[in-house]
Amino acid sequence: MKILVANLGSTSFKFRLFEMEEGGECLLAEGGYERVTDYGEVIRDALEGLEREGVAAQEDIAAVGFKTVLGRNLSGCVEAGDEVLAALEGFSDVAPAHNPAYAAGIRQFRKILPGARRVALFETAFYQWVPEAGTRYAVPRAWHEAGIRRYGFHGASHKYIAERSAELLAREDVATEVRGLYQNGPGRVERPLRVISCHLGGSSSVTGIRNGVAVGTSMGFSPQSGLPQNNRVGDLDSGAIPHAARTLGLSMTEAERQLTAESGLLGVSGVGNDMRDVRAAALEGNEDAQLAVDVFVHEIRRWASSFLFDLGGLEGLVFTAGIGENNPWLREEVCAGLEEFGIILDPVRNEGVRGEEGEISGVGAKVKIYVVPANEELVLAREVYRKVSSLN
Ligand code: ADP
Repeated sequence: MKILVANLGSTSFKFRLFEMEEGGECLLAEGGYERVTDYGEVIRDALEGLEREGVAAQEDIAAVGFKTVLGRNLSGCVEAGDEVLAALEGFSDVAPAHNPAYAAGIRQFRKILPGARRVALFETAFYQWVPEAGTRYAVPRAWHEAGIRRYGFHGASHKYIAERSAELLAREDVATEVRGLYQNGPGRVERPLRVISCHLGGSSSVTGIRNGVAVGTSMGFSPQSGLPQNNRVGDLDSGAIPHAARTLGLSMTEAERQLTAESGLLGVSGVGNDMRDVRAAALEGNEDAQLAVDVFVHEIRRWASSFLFDLGGLEGLVFTAGIGENNPWLREEVCAGLEEFGIILDPVRNEGVRGEEGEISGVGAKVKIYVVPANEELVLAREVYRKVSSLN
């Protein structure tokens, strides 16, 4: 079954085409467009290209998968029809770079490839079993009813880590649980397996996972929460916004813009939003850049430690995404001084693992530490395949 995974940004369209079958998959093609103004045009161009190169005729594409961010009153892995469009548009202001783009892309695919099924996998889906105490903000009931709660994001990435870490830790029972999670729900694993997954990239989050199921994550209501992001603020005391607006004379719109575009690593360092540039400046003696790095590491440790309590122990700690995969120095700083908890890095192994999968824990470590490259598109393809197979 050929499944196209569509990744839509506010001005970009990327795709991967997979051949999926029971127990395996193969990437057939990938491509992308930047500075997109008309999604219909680039989608048609991509499909014509695939046909021209003999990769896939348009009628052979059985389904298109969308990694939707969050929807109002909707999550999970669901057919992308009118209900999904309404859910995305109901929260367009919470994810302005993504929700309108996905809504537009789903409409275009409906027009251009009417014979293919469309499936949305929400980034919030992995958190559907987080206990209510972990999702509820202490806001008035009306706010809660307006949808203001912790949702969590990067669900596809952390779900991949849940499955892959179980495989690496030789816990096939947990890996099986993760594979069937969205179809069967959790509850079949007896012996505990506790993992903390650190997705550290342009956008970052830390998730605690018990027996393949998320117990909580650092991101909350919007992707503007949790760890400091490349140019977004991360967690911020709600009292700070009205105070800053009053004293700096900012409108709500301008305050929001500054917090979503001029904050995070960029805001603290003043250097840039890419960790490579920030780190290079820090090594050259730029104190603001060093502070940005320190704040980032501090927040990773703060969130990871909160899941250590929540989980009551730990078997696996995983680093994934651009920053987590490629920066041994950062992994060393995150793990520093945690020997008493059984978290011990092997400096030589750690130094040697960049952009590839590998174990980096040292001899005698109680907690296995891994680097696992992010693989969100594969999770999408697999979930869409399961969903479409259940519908056919
Ligand atoms: P996203 O998909 O959210 O844009 P990525 O997972 O690609 O993010 O991560 C981007 C971040 O990863 C950048 O901040 C960059 O500094 C870091 N990164 C990517 N590749 C490397 C590398 N080879 N060495 C060091 N850092 C890297």
